[in-house]
Amino acid sequence: MSDMRHPQYLLTPGPLTTSREVKEAMLFDKSPNSPEMVEMVQGIRDYIVELANGKGSYEAVPVQGSATFGIEAAFHTLADKATSHVLIVENGFYGMRLRQVVEAIRFKTTRLELPVVPAVSGEDIEKALDADPTITHVALCHCDTGTGILNPLEPVAAVCRARGVKLVVDAIASFGGFEIDAPALGVEAVIISPNKCFESVPGVAFVLVRTESLAASEGRSPSYVLDLHSQWAFMEEKGWFRTTYPTHVMLAMGKAVERHKAEGGIAPRQARYRSNWRRLVDGLRQRGFSTFLDDDHASPIIATFHDPDDPAYDFLKFYEAMERRGFVIFPGRLTAASTFRIGVMGDLTDGDISMIINAVADSMAELGVTNTAPKAERVVAA
Ligand SMILES: *Cc1c(COP(=O)(O)O)cnc(C)c1O
Repeated sequence: MSDMRHPQYLLTPGPLTTSREVKEAMLFDKSPNSPEMVEMVQGIRDYIVELANGKGSYEAVPVQGSATFGIEAAFHTLADKATSHVLIVENGFYGMRLRQVVEAIRFKTTRLELPVVPAVSGEDIEKALDADPTITHVALCHCDTGTGILNPLEPVAAVCRARGVKLVVDAIASFGGFEIDAPALGVEAVIISPNKCFESVPGVAFVLVRTESLAASEGRSPSYVLDLHSQWAFMEEKGWFRTTYPTHVMLAMGKAVERHKAEGGIAPRQARYRSNWRRLVDGLRQRGFSTFLDDDHASPIIATFHDPDDPAYDFLKFYEAMERRGFVIFPGRLTAASTFRIGVMGDLTDGDISMIINAVADSMAELGVTNTAPKAERVVAA
């Protein structure tokens, strides 16, 4: 275990294994409104806008809380409950979560329930919009870490642009690791997390929002804290959040942004994830495991594997055996198939992936699992 670069590896699809540098950035008690923090917070917001090619047309507004707080704040702020009707693309766990959030705040919703594969298409959206012309918004999850599917943005965005329907994207898992050109897509809002492809810690959400829509949203949100306009207006004036914010989390994010820049931005980060993901998927396939998705549909940030069809296999025992070896994995989030997930976002190198593969093999041996292949009928689930 001497090659372990971290005391424990968090291989969940966010939060995840952060670098020592990011953790060390939190060892300071800063005043929320110190000039130093004001400058750092502005730098983080600017970088998010820059990554989305949004300079001049989009704003990045932070909201205290987990990323889901950003989804709720976006709908509260950008849409009128009385006149809005949200089409939710539901083809995975986080599509369902989008619906739960929008339903909880009593917006009118319509579910577009789709299988995980084939991926959502422009025609799917066109059909749904034709069926109900009162739809004003489409909500779509980009990378659904529940299944690992990567939903294509452009075909959905193209239909929304053509119909004058506003598109809200949950890019919580993908932002920072995948190109999202906000003005080209014409998106209304994009929800972003610090603790996925940015490899920072949880505690704040960012909402990238079209400046025009944000400027026109004053007084709309029925919530005091989930109000992007108030947060933005206050921040533009003073430079800090409207109410106390997690300063340590923002310090970590400041360092994470530095590291993202130093790595070269989105493309090199995705290349590292893709190479780690390839190594993991190939390594476990060689050991008899099979993935839930074929490679063309999978996002290279998380791999979903079928549970082995062996009487000795038990997820909890597997989880514990992995944890004892320093690796925390995640159960699947599918009703259709029993699966487990291993995330490859985070401060991971190819050497780490090799250790993970060995730990899986050792854990299987410990459990007495000899057949790592899934039940035959499950292989075709994708
Ligand atoms: C992690 C994740 C979320 C949930 O984020 P929270 O920080 O737990 O609120 C939502 N959507 C996707 C796609 C995610 O990966």
